[in-house]
Amino acid sequence: MVKWQQRRKSDNVEDRRGAATAGGAGLIVVLVRFVIGRFGIRGVLLLALAGGGLYLMGVNPMGLLQGGGGGTQTAAATDDEASQFVNDIVVETENVWTRIFAEGNSTYQAPKLIMFSGSVSSACGYASAASGPFYCPGDRQVYLDTSFFDELSRRFGAPGDFAAAYVIAHEVGHHIQTITGVSKQVRNAQQRASGEAEANEYQVKMELQADCYAGVWANRAERTRDYLDDGDIEEGLRAAEAIGDDTLQKSAGRRVTPESFTHGTSAQRQRWFTAGYRTGDVSACDTFNAARL
Ligand SMILES: [Zn+2]
Repeated sequence: MVKWQQRRKSDNVEDRRGAATAGGAGLIVVLVRFVIGRFGIRGVLLLALAGGGLYLMGVNPMGLLQGGGGGTQTAAATDDEASQFVNDIVVETENVWTRIFAEGNSTYQAPKLIMFSGSVSSACGYASAASGPFYCPGDRQVYLDTSFFDELSRRFGAPGDFAAAYVIAHEVGHHIQTITGVSKQVRNAQQRASGEAEANEYQVKMELQADCYAGVWANRAERTRDYLDDGDIEEGLRAAEAIGDDTLQKSAGRRVTPESFTHGTSAQRQRWFTAGYRTGDVSACDTFNAARL
């Protein structure tokens, strides 16, 4: 159980829950129910992370499902448990990355995090609960459908909060890659790639680096304020295991095809999270030049 009682409120959390969207919303609810029923949380996580990956490549995975329709926004931030939890994790990512950037004599510009329910409009297109949490480089915002957390904690049991924190920290990791220029380099390399398998390799390295950054975050948060409890890291590792491409393909009854991986195997995701967590050092996260992933 992460100690999530921050006094500070982040300026970067925007609550858009309760916003209704016309168009494909009903279809998406049906899709999410189907995925949960058929594949469980792993299916949702697959959608979440695959969706996030597609967004990073500039594709809107929900584009075909959405029939347009204007999203309306409600700005009234409620102070429920979910928003307090999200606020706390966001504050802790701001604290940690501000320090890390300061160590390198630069200033951290934190991303905004948009909490939404149903669907939401982003610079990357429309997103829904079926897209799962994702980072949009176009507007530099993390999008989070909070029903995802309910599902995650139900499946992982009561202290499932570190798994949720890991997901947020991973998305913030993509923000770091955007401001350091890594994302752009990866997109350029993918455009020059000889085929899909090679393009996927770059994607895997980028995802594993985001996992490693989540580990760096956990290390720094722990170091400064005794943030974590026993079992939190194991919980993060279990989450990392559950969402490895090989595990997901197996549990979906499909053949394991490494060339189609976009996020890395369970073992790789655990290894890179651990590399970041053990060192607390971003230089331990150079997946692009690593001899072994
Ligand atoms: Zn990702």
